Amino acid sequence: MSATIIDGKIIAADLRAAVKAETQRLHAAHGIVPGLAVVLIGDDPASQSYVASKSRAVAEVGMRPFDHHLPADVSEAELIALVQKLNADPAVHGVLVQMPLPPQISTKCIVARIDPDKDVDGFHPLNAGRLFTGLPALAPCTPIACIKLIKTVHASLAGREALMVGRSHIVGNPLAQLLLKENATVTIAHTRSRDLPALCRRAEILCVAIGRAEYVRGDWIRPGSTVIDIGINRVTAGGKSRIVGDVNFAEALPVAGAVTPVPGGVGPMTIACLLLNTLRAACTQAGLPAPEV
Ligand code: NAP
Repeated sequence: MSATIIDGKIIAADLRAAVKAETQRLHAAHGIVPGLAVVLIGDDPASQSYVASKSRAVAEVGMRPFDHHLPADVSEAELIALVQKLNADPAVHGVLVQMPLPPQISTKCIVARIDPDKDVDGFHPLNAGRLFTGLPALAPCTPIACIKLIKTVHASLAGREALMVGRSHIVGNPLAQLLLKENATVTIAHTRSRDLPALCRRAEILCVAIGRAEYVRGDWIRPGSTVIDIGINRVTAGGKSRIVGDVNFAEALPVAGAVTPVPGGVGPMTIACLLLNTLRAACTQAGLPAPEV
């Protein structure tokens, strides 16, 4: 038996189409065009290409991209001034500052300056707190993406054993909260956890976000389980470089019931969920209910 490969590209294309349809409806009914401002600092090629693909995706669904490129030596005060300008701009419904930031700028400080209603990355402490207390919140895009991918396999997660490996504020913690919200029985593992292979073997839903190339082995995986590999790791072998996940995909394939590939799994869904968050933010700011997408 070979696991079903959860094709993030196809699922993301469906989500983008649904967001596009809702965006058109919002414009037709209320004259609102959701706008996403992306702020890029410096000349890191990976960040540049990521920002370019976000802006392309924004335009493709009929939203308005606002791109801002600041030099690597920009001061924290200058960046705060730009964020405040974007917060006050009614044409901008989402504000995203591309991470990582240069060393002279405090990430915490910048995240806290973004209007929580425009915080489409879902990193603002208010949104994190709302998510943890069960209130409506803009949640981070990658965890939303993971839940949507899992739901293509399981209509309900109620009562299922879920393991979240990794506890970052960007992925692990919020994804564990979203799994809990879906009534899964959630365990969170991290570097101090004992016997990670045994914890993994219990999981019907195994989500891994640790940033360690192919760390989770095939014999750690519960047969028939759903494996969501969030890791993005560049490895070089024989002079060739490629991207792999945190799970050994070749070993997972004959054991798991369903597995996300890397690349082509969580990555494309994350951008689609950014569009979804921008649409939701635009609706909320207009006092309209968020569309069921
Ligand atoms: P991070 O902030 O470095 O956090 C890594 C987490 O993994 C930490 O909680 C750490 O535990 C835990 N960890 C590390 N090694 C471990 C081990 N051997 N056993 C158990 N736990 C371990 O990373 P992140 O931002 O969450 O990102 C994780 C991965 O996801 C990276 O590869 C990143 O590139 C990728 N990512 C992908 C997307 C996407 O769209 N697909 C989005 C975001 C991130 P401690 O807390 O104990 O240190």
